[in-house]
Amino acid sequence: MRIATITNWAYGATVCLTLASGVVMLMASNADNAERRAVEQRQIFDQLTEEVETDAWSLSDLARLYVVNKDPDALKEYQQKEQSLKGIDQRLLRLKDNGATGEELALLHEGLQVADELQDEQQAALASMARGEERQAVILLYGKPYEQELDRVQNQIDHFRLILDRRAQNAVEQATKASRTLRTLSEVMVGLTALLFLFVLGFILKRRVLRPVVRLSDVVHRLASQDYAVETPNFNQIDEIGDMAQAIRIFRENGLVRQQLEKERDADWAIRELLARMTQRLQGCENFADVINVAQLFAPNIAPGIGGQLYILDRDPWQMRCVAQWLIDDEKQLPFHPDECWAVRRGQSHPPVNGEPDITCYHLPESAANQSLCVPLIAQGEAIGLLSFQNITPETAPSRAYLELMAEALGLALANQRLRDALLEKALYDPLTGLRNRHHLEDKMQTLMSQALRNDEPVSCLMIDIDHFKSINDRFGHEAGDQVIKSVAAIVQRAVSDNGIAFRYGGEEFLALLAGISEEGAHACATEIYEGVRALSLRYGLAEIGPVDVSIGIASYPQHAQSDNLLRAADVALYRAKELGRSRIVSFGMLEAG
Ligand code: GH3
Ligand code: MG
Ligand code: MG
Repeated sequence: MRIATITNWAYGATVCLTLASGVVMLMASNADNAERRAVEQRQIFDQLTEEVETDAWSLSDLARLYVVNKDPDALKEYQQKEQSLKGIDQRLLRLKDNGATGEELALLHEGLQVADELQDEQQAALASMARGEERQAVILLYGKPYEQELDRVQNQIDHFRLILDRRAQNAVEQATKASRTLRTLSEVMVGLTALLFLFVLGFILKRRVLRPVVRLSDVVHRLASQDYAVETPNFNQIDEIGDMAQAIRIFRENGLVRQQLEKERDADWAIRELLARMTQRLQGCENFADVINVAQLFAPNIAPGIGGQLYILDRDPWQMRCVAQWLIDDEKQLPFHPDECWAVRRGQSHPPVNGEPDITCYHLPESAANQSLCVPLIAQGEAIGLLSFQNITPETAPSRAYLELMAEALGLALANQRLRDALLEKALYDPLTGLRNRHHLEDKMQTLMSQALRNDEPVSCLMIDIDHFKSINDRFGHEAGDQVIKSVAAIVQRAVSDNGIAFRYGGEEFLALLAGISEEGAHACATEIYEGVRALSLRYGLAEIGPVDVSIGIASYPQHAQSDNLLRAADVALYRAKELGRSRIVSFGMLEAG
């Protein structure tokens, strides 16, 4: 209830009580008047009764006076009085007019009648006096019967006076009582009015104003210091305090929303910074492992609480292979065909809207069906990998835009790595044979030699050259020559694969470095190559190329040469083999012996 309403009600109640107490005071005043009237009436009754009594006694007294004193004035007065005496009813008329009841008047009437009846005795006594019988007259007016009659009159008058007195007394008492009661009532009402006023004032000030205002003031202070955790008081009353509490509640809710927005904005900035840092790190990656490590480290921070997997598309076989996963307990997922992923098929994130019914990617476990998001890694319009997120709930759902940005950066990094690998392969490997080319030789040579020096192991070098290769080119064409080169390279690769590295050294020249192999082992390897090539049965189209031979020179470290001239020694041995007629194996040791 509004304070204004309470105040109005209290004001109304106070006015009503005041009016009521005024009315009661008026009633008390009336009661006072009634009391006064009762007293006055009693006095009037006393006076009238006195007059009646005097009238009643006057004739008797005058007659007695005359009988005793023989005063002629007394007789004269008696006679005048007798003639002027009115009838009983007329004498009682004033008493009747002033409120004496019939019953009361009957008593007085009876007394006066007796008094009037005594006139006969008085007449008889006066007659006796006139006859000179004074004694007879005295006996008549002072005799016992006369006295008894006088007593009767007096009794009746006294009785009448008593009744009247009693009635007047009752009236006075009742009026006094009513007056006192009404005054008390009036005082109680005034007291109640004052109490009500004080109560309302106290209630409004303390309970409805002071206490809530102190509480609200405390809340406002805390809100001013941005402490939005403070509980706003729940004053639901419909008044100004309730309005203030409601306003403070709304202010706090707005503050909480603003705080939440600021928190989200900060989180947003943090994620943007993470994305920027991840992109920088990706630019510094030198191989796929680096890219995978970066993804594994940054992804759980960019999408906090969301498990995910990074897949890379292998070309042989054509499948998506899981290379990293985070915040997922399961074993790494098995590779799957790219078509099993709707995101890869569509070239867009899938499902497009979280929580809406949509087809689920077939590679996902059933448990992850409704809480997953796949984002393809696209480079030059082609999917080259996939980011697959799981356990996405409405609360933890990350910004899809950031996940797509992450996928874009990862896709670009993976594409760069592919390009880099392809360039490197082109730079270091011979495209015809797949063997390493001469650019790789120096590095490998150094590595092998330092390893051999460290472990005190031998290293052997084979220099292999196809004999009369020019004539093969000439007879069957360049393509046939290429085919021969490829076949010989395959044999060389097979022979050295376990223990060494094979290089295409020049046009139709190959070189093999054999780690931990001495001259004997190298010879065995050379023999394997020599016989392998000889056993080749090469055809180019319908034409048979015929037997192909190779010459092989062998040199071993530390037997024949030091690390810096091992190749030279092998070359010398090859040269010697050519000199000796080709199609043979010559060891540098044989040269020294020869
Ligand atoms: P020798 O027995 O003395 O080694 O004689 P040869 O003919 O094998 O040696 P020569 O150095 O005279 O000839 C090598 C030829 O190999 C010359 C060149 O045209 C050819 N050749 C070099 N590289 C390639 C290649 O990649 N493919 C083809 N088809 N021929 C090549
Ligand atoms: Mg040659
Ligand atoms: Mg040759």
